[in-house]
Amino acid sequence: MKTTLEEASQCPTCHEPALKLREGPHPQRARAKLIYFRCANNRCPMQGQGHVVQINPDGTIPIRQAGPKQYPELPNDFGQTEAKLRAELEAQRRGGAEIASPYRP
Ligand SMILES: [Zn+2]
Repeated sequence: MKTTLEEASQCPTCHEPALKLREGPHPQRARAKLIYFRCANNRCPMQGQGHVVQINPDGTIPIRQAGPKQYPELPNDFGQTEAKLRAELEAQRRGGAEIASPYRP
């Protein structure tokens, strides 16, 4: 089973084309890559949630599955957790100051 990038980029909930955030190498599979998408449809119940599409080294795209390819669900706290995670990511990229993780006790 395979799918096209156009299909795979759609929001899994509302099936609108989602916004491409970034792409990068697959952390576990050599030469495969991951593309991160975010639903931009403000009528979608999953708005602001992302999903990840895997591109195999041969260019095929496996059918999306629930589980490891999905983002972990973020707590519904109006983006506070997401903002923290983004700030952490930024800090990691810059190698700068450590920001407390919301998941740390
Ligand atoms: Zn959507």
